Amino acid sequence: MSEIDDLEPILETVRKVCAAYPGAYWRACDRERTYPAEFVEAMTSSGLLGVLIPEAYGGSGLSLTVAAAILEEVHASGCNAAALHAQMYTMGTLLRHGSLEQKETYLPRIASGDLRLQAFGVTEPTAGTDTTNISTRAERRGDVYVVNGQKVWTSRAEHSDLMILLARTTPKDRVAKKTDGLSVFLVDMRAAAGAGMTIKPIRTMFNHATTEIFFDNLEIPASSLIGEEGKGFRYILDGMNAERILIASECIGDGRWFVEKATAYAKDRRVFDRPIGQNQGVQFPIARSYAEVRAAKLMTLEAARLYDTGASCAEEANIAKLLASEASWRAADTCLQTHGGFGFAEDYDVERKFRETRLYQVAPISTNLILSYVAEHVLGMPRSY
Ligand SMILES: Cc1cc2nc3c(=O)[nH]c(=O)nc-3n(C[C@H](O)[C@H](O)[C@H](O)COP(=O)(O)OP(=O)(O)OC[C@H]3O[C@@H](n4cnc5c(N)ncnc54)[C@H](O)[C@@H]3O)c2cc1C
Repeated sequence: MSEIDDLEPILETVRKVCAAYPGAYWRACDRERTYPAEFVEAMTSSGLLGVLIPEAYGGSGLSLTVAAAILEEVHASGCNAAALHAQMYTMGTLLRHGSLEQKETYLPRIASGDLRLQAFGVTEPTAGTDTTNISTRAERRGDVYVVNGQKVWTSRAEHSDLMILLARTTPKDRVAKKTDGLSVFLVDMRAAAGAGMTIKPIRTMFNHATTEIFFDNLEIPASSLIGEEGKGFRYILDGMNAERILIASECIGDGRWFVEKATAYAKDRRVFDRPIGQNQGVQFPIARSYAEVRAAKLMTLEAARLYDTGASCAEEANIAKLLASEASWRAADTCLQTHGGFGFAEDYDVERKFRETRLYQVAPISTNLILSYVAEHVLGMPRSY
């Protein structure tokens, strides 16, 4: 991946695209729970969504650092990248472990927007965060795999053509390590729909197009396997670091938006014959949020830099996501508090962004599980599970 020195022209493009999708657009999508297809198309046609796809396949072959900066700017502009970010965080799995045939078949069409790769099926209802405990099975029968099981929280599945799917190819009781025997597939959802795959939407507290997916003897070509059979957990972990860095960037963008919005309101709103921002009780939480967002950004940049050099970045990616999601959540709370009653009015967009940014304490990985990673894998304390 090549690096570029000056991100400003790309960020300017992001701001231009986002300017066409103001609060009213997102409020309408939120109210009706509709997928922001126009925004996704605009991000694709401007080339912003394809930055991680190599130039040879129609993308711009840039680094995760650039992708992270794009998603941060989307969120800082008041938009939301949740409708499209999966293409970026699953890209590493396809680029690093996919076959030449898979890349040649899919990447040019993903880059052009002809195909959407926006679904990432890992979580299952009974396994929860314990990913190695998933029970969705993919059994090899001749030149197909037969998939049975269920996924939950598979976001954007109704709006995606392709899905990266994690399934067990060897039962847990027949592998040496529980992380063995898991495999990753690139599933063509257009062929799967109605042929053994059923998608059911889940309505949530904000507009996220998330779903549950049922597999009932779904046959997928053996060529759908990404990389080596049984090694999928490693590929997914790799992708999860990218995901944490990109989500941290979205949180930083949200944090910037909340701080800017709160600051502007605090300067403008007059109560007791003075701007509310003249009171230190109002100023200090906003100033603290500003500092927390900036600090989280430094860790996120470091995580992205390590990822781009191919170095191990699990510690930094996890800490970046922890700090950024906490910073954005505190900034959201501060922004709402600064707005008083008006923070609850839809027209200010604060309550919507507040609901949206709350997710990142839980997904793609919850705060407790990050703390547990740091405690056990970085600090060497005893394993708790
Ligand atoms: C809107 C939304 C979109 C999502 N999109 C996707 C998607 O596209 N693809 C996908 O695969 N998944 C997706 N997810 C799933 C998400 O990654 C999981 O919800 C998340 O990883 C937490 O898993 P869980 O919900 O099963 O919680 P659980 O694992 O059941 O955990 C519940 C709570 O218990 C805590 N906990 C559990 N075990 C421990 C422990 N040992 N120590 C301390 N605390 C513990 C957790 O921190 C958490 O707070 C999405 C979720 C949501 C809500």
